[in-house]
Amino acid sequence: MSQDTKIKKLVVVGGGSAGWMTALYLNTLYNHADKNFDITVIESPDIGVIGVGEATVHSIRFFFQAMGLDEHELLRETNASLKTGIMFQGWMQPNSDGSLHKYFHPFESQLSGSVLDISSLWMMSDKPHHGRYDESVCLSTPLAKAGHSPKSNTSRQYEGLVPYGYHIDAVLLGRFLRRKAIEAGVTHVQATVDKVDIEGDNITALHAGGNIYSGDYYLDCTGFRGLLINKLKQDNWQSFKGALPCTKAVAIQRKMPVGVSPRSYTVATALSNGWAWQIDLVNRQGTGYVYDGDRISSDEAEQELRTFLGFDSDVIKCVHLDMKVGCLKEFWVGNCIAIGLSGGFIEPLESTGLHLINLSAGLLATHLDKTHISQCVRDSFNRLMNGFYQDLKQFIVLHYCLTNRTDTDFWRSAPATVNETPWLKDQLKVWQHKVCEYQDLAGSFSTVFSDENYRYILYGMQHYPKLDLTVNPAITNGVFDRVQAHAEKILNASKPHADYLKQINL
Ligand SMILES: Cc1cc2nc3c(=O)[nH]c(=O)nc-3n(C[C@H](O)[C@H](O)[C@H](O)COP(=O)(O)OP(=O)(O)OC[C@H]3O[C@@H](n4cnc5c(N)ncnc54)[C@H](O)[C@@H]3O)c2cc1C
Repeated sequence: MSQDTKIKKLVVVGGGSAGWMTALYLNTLYNHADKNFDITVIESPDIGVIGVGEATVHSIRFFFQAMGLDEHELLRETNASLKTGIMFQGWMQPNSDGSLHKYFHPFESQLSGSVLDISSLWMMSDKPHHGRYDESVCLSTPLAKAGHSPKSNTSRQYEGLVPYGYHIDAVLLGRFLRRKAIEAGVTHVQATVDKVDIEGDNITALHAGGNIYSGDYYLDCTGFRGLLINKLKQDNWQSFKGALPCTKAVAIQRKMPVGVSPRSYTVATALSNGWAWQIDLVNRQGTGYVYDGDRISSDEAEQELRTFLGFDSDVIKCVHLDMKVGCLKEFWVGNCIAIGLSGGFIEPLESTGLHLINLSAGLLATHLDKTHISQCVRDSFNRLMNGFYQDLKQFIVLHYCLTNRTDTDFWRSAPATVNETPWLKDQLKVWQHKVCEYQDLAGSFSTVFSDENYRYILYGMQHYPKLDLTVNPAITNGVFDRVQAHAEKILNASKPHADYLKQINL
C-alpha cells in the first residue's frame, strides 16, 4: 500500500450496477478541485453483468441526484418508467367474494391523524370492513388506480407529488453510469482479473489482461462470485435460506402486451412456490418467478410463469438464475470492501438490490479516509452492513409469514419462517393488541424499512390488532375525509403516467 502519496488509489473490480454506482458516487463526492481518490474500474469483457434488477425503492433518486445525474436523461437512456410502490396479489386466500386478495405497499408515509395516529383511527373506524388500509391512508393508491404519474407538470427533477422510484433497464443503467463515470474522470479497464496477490489480510496487486494493478483500497463488485473478498477470508458467509427459501429465479423479458401502457407500480403475484414480478418499462415488460428450487424444478417454474403470463406472450428472452441468499459476516476485510451481490443478496421482493448498493456506498463514504483505517472503523462498517441485511431479511419474512394460504407445501410452511426472526415473532404477538408504531422499531437494527412500511404489510395481510375501544366518530371521519379531499386535489394536479413518459421521450 502506498504510504506517502496524497491521492489514494481505489480499484473497483466489476462493471455491474454495484461497480459503476459506487465509482461514480465516490468520484462525485471526493474528486473535485482537490482529487482525493484515483478511481479505476476493471470490468471483464467476457463475464457479463447479472442483467436483472429493474425496480428500485424511492430513495434511490436522491442517490442518482447526488451523482449529479440529469433525471430526464436518466429516464430516456434507460427506458425507465416511474414507480410509486408494489401491488401484492394473491398473498392471502381469495377474498370472501372469491376475488384475488390485493394490497398496495406505497413509498409514501401514511398521512397523519390529528389527535391519534391514523392507523389506530382506521382500526377503530368501520374502515376494515369496507376497504383496504392503503386506500384510506395515502395518496399513492388513488394515483396508481387512476394510472397517473407521481409527478405533475411543474414537479422539479427528483421531486414528485408523492415519493417515487423507477423501473429501469438494468443493462442500460450500467452503460449509462459507465459513460457518466468515464466522462467524470474514472479510469475504465476492460480486462478479466485472473490472479490476486495477497499479503496477510491485504490485497497487494491484481493481474488482469497481462497488466498488474495495485491500489490502496479494492472494491469487490464482482457479483455472486465475490472474487476478491472470498480470497481474503474463509467461513465468512451467513445463509438466510431457512428464513427465505426462494433461491432460484427464472426471468422473462417480453414485449409490452398490445394496448397496455406502463404501470407506475410493480406487481408481485404469489404463485405456487414463490412469486412473480412484473415490471413495466417504456418499451417492454420485465417479468420473473422467484421460487423455492427444493420444491419445483426450473422447467416447472418456467412453465408456470409462462402460463401465468399467457401463452400469447411475445418473449424476448428467458434466463434461469441461482440466487445466493444471505450476506457476508465481514464486508470489509483488510483493504477490500465487498459491495453489491458479492456482499450479499436478499430476494428481490422489495426491490432492494440497488438500494443496498446505495446504502453500502453511503456508508463507505463516511468510513473511508486517506489516512490509515483502524480496525474499529472496519468493525463499524461491518456491524452496520450486517444490520441492514438482517433488518431486510426480517422485513421480507413479514410478507410470507402472515399468509393464510394452504394450497401448497410452500405456503403451508411459510408461517414457520418467522421462527428464523425471533424479534419479529415476539413483536407480531404485540401487534395483535396495538398498532405498529415508530418506537417499536426504533431500538432494533439500523432500519431500512420503518414502522410506516411495516404497517402497510401488516394491515395489507390483515394482521389487525384487536382494539376494544371506540373513538369519537367526528375525529375519525374528519381524518379520512381530509385524505379523500387531498387525493382529489392531487389527481387534478397529475397527468396519466403514459403521457408523462411520452413527454420525457419526445
Ligand atoms: C432474480 C433477481 C432479481 C433482482 N431484482 C432486483 C430488483 O428488482 N431491484 C434491485 O434493486 N435489485 C434487484 N436484483 C439485484 C441486482 O440485480 C443487483 O443488486 C445489481 O445488479 C448489482 O449487481 P452487481 O453489480 O453486484 O453484480 P453483476 O451485475 O453480476 O456484475 C458483476 C461484474 O463483475 C465483473 N467481473 C466478474 N468477475 C470478474 C473478473 N474476474 N475480472 C473482472 N471483472 C469481473 C463482471 O464482468 C460484471 O461487470 C435482482 C437480482 C436477482 C438475482
